[in-house]
Amino acid sequence: MDDSDIVKSALTEAIDKLGLIKPDAIERISHLLSADMTVHPRQTCIEYRKTGDQLSKEDKKANGINGNAFFSRNAFDDLTDLGRLNPLIAHQQTILRANFTVGRYHSLEKLKQIFLPGHGFKGIVKFIGSAPECPFCSDSDGELMKIEEAPVFPPPQCACAAPHYLFIPEISFLDNWNEPDQTESARGSLLTRFIRWFRHE
Ligand SMILES: [Zn+2]
Repeated sequence: MDDSDIVKSALTEAIDKLGLIKPDAIERISHLLSADMTVHPRQTCIEYRKTGDQLSKEDKKANGINGNAFFSRNAFDDLTDLGRLNPLIAHQQTILRANFTVGRYHSLEKLKQIFLPGHGFKGIVKFIGSAPECPFCSDSDGELMKIEEAPVFPPPQCACAAPHYLFIPEISFLDNWNEPDQTESARGSLLTRFIRWFRHE
């Protein structure tokens, strides 16, 4: 999976799950994702709604949109009936959900590179839940799992609208050591790479 595949898959999942945006709007809104997550979707979505021919004051009023808010006709066309119940959050919620999925994908890919074969470690990560009110996130919080089995996409049991659960590497030198004859230097270099991962280097 490359970068454009994960963006498309994450958006498709968010569109299907939340039902706020029409599936055929995917190409129009994919640029709203901030791949490095430096810009909040609130910002990119406001810019998007600002651009182009705007809804009339009457249309805005009829759809519960504040008269001062920007809302282009194209952006309004993206919305499903459900999305039109709360037009000002529909894009943002969808983009935010997809953005967290893309972020999880990249962080797991980085971790997989750290758990390179030959360094004696099994790839074990710890699940850090998104919200205590979500049964899945709270039940799974602190659970250890193999990195290959860590869910990038939110599982159906997750009730969060924009799940931001994540995974951190679980380092247990005694339990996760595959080959007891690994040298100290290999251990040292793995630690160095973990430290760099934590610092996002
Ligand atoms: Zn959840």
